[in-house]
Amino acid sequence: MKNFDFQCKTRLIFGENSVKELKNMISGNYKNILLHYGGGSIKKYGLYNQVIQILGKENVNVFELSGVEPNPKLSLVKEGIKISRENNIDLILAVGGGSVIDSAKAIGIGAKYEEDVWDFFTGKAEPKESLPVGVILTIPATGSETSTGSVITNEDGLYKRSLRSNEMRPVFAIMDPKLTLTLPDKQTFAGIMDMLSHIFERYFTNTPNVDFIDHMSEGAMKSIIKNAYALKKDPQNYNARSEIMLAGTIAHNGVLGIGREEDWASHKIGHEIGALYGETHGVTLAIVFPAWMKYVYKVDIDRFIRFATKVFDVSAEGKNKNEIVLEGIGKFEDFLHRIGLPTSFIEGNLPTDKFELMADKATEEGPIGSFKKLFKEDVANIYKLAL
Ligand code: NAP
Ligand code: FE
Repeated sequence: MKNFDFQCKTRLIFGENSVKELKNMISGNYKNILLHYGGGSIKKYGLYNQVIQILGKENVNVFELSGVEPNPKLSLVKEGIKISRENNIDLILAVGGGSVIDSAKAIGIGAKYEEDVWDFFTGKAEPKESLPVGVILTIPATGSETSTGSVITNEDGLYKRSLRSNEMRPVFAIMDPKLTLTLPDKQTFAGIMDMLSHIFERYFTNTPNVDFIDHMSEGAMKSIIKNAYALKKDPQNYNARSEIMLAGTIAHNGVLGIGREEDWASHKIGHEIGALYGETHGVTLAIVFPAWMKYVYKVDIDRFIRFATKVFDVSAEGKNKNEIVLEGIGKFEDFLHRIGLPTSFIEGNLPTDKFELMADKATEEGPIGSFKKLFKEDVANIYKLAL
């Protein structure tokens, strides 16, 4: 196990009707609030009115910035930074999913930085401070409600880049599983793939002797798969919605990466699909991960045997190592199909003529991943495997 230093400052308020707690989070703490949200789902389902009512009873000024798109854009972040500076914003309240939260986080660090906020995403600068970000989560997926991450797309060149910093962890996250009952199936299951991926990116590690977190991760993956099937059967199952909402947070608050080297190549490979075609993040991961697994598993075949046998209950009896691993990956693909996700470009109705360009962009800052270091040619091979 590697040495580590872990702190997650986000206060979690979880459960039915927890939105009411927004009052206690705000009261006496903040004066000028930037309410940040997406394309309108919060208005359609009544959450917007509820939030406005709560804020209306507090002695605060509310400024609004809506229109965050899935795969959030740099131009809106810059607009948010301008509003924040002009109005002395002291809390950014993100109401929505990962895209809204990531946009809020970028505004938060950008407002405290004199130069171009994109510097943080290219590695030119590191965030030293942020405006506080509060969250009301409407979709379990990214874990951005407690994570250190933000992922933003720069329209100039279509670069989708991620950034991690402890400065960006939200100060509070209100999570009512009932809010997720209105999610379209595609978002529910893409979100589930995203949280599984956040575990994969940490589970497939070369760090030796990391048993405790491995067991936690395997239990988490099994629970996510079980509750995914429950939601496939009945999307209104409140308990399954609760389990999935909690899982999304734990999968990416950093606990499952403690003491180990993390990978993150598959996210980067997927980001190029999101940047070019606007595809939903979780869908890009459903396409990339089975191919990545097939491409890299020989680096540590025993780790993949552990995955196949412990997470997908593959029996090892009478099979050689390759057969066990490939059966595990096959069962994973079968799971993705059963929850309605594509596992290839063609199944996802995505163009297949830009693999070289995408591989080039994914490795522009150097090779990616750590389980197996991937160069441009490797990334192009993974896209081809996912054809
Ligand atoms: P999202 O992009 O925030 O939202 C997806 C869609 O779901 C939107 O169209 C949204 O509509 C709709 N929606 C949200 N809540 C809803 C509800 N309760 N009922 C009905 N519709 C609802 O989805 P996401 O998967 O959470 O975020 C994806 C982004 O996060 C990607 O850019 C991805 O790369 C990034 N990401 C970030 C991290 C991190 O740690 N920061 C990790 C992984 C991925 P409206 O716009 O109308 O609200
Ligand atoms: Fe993700």
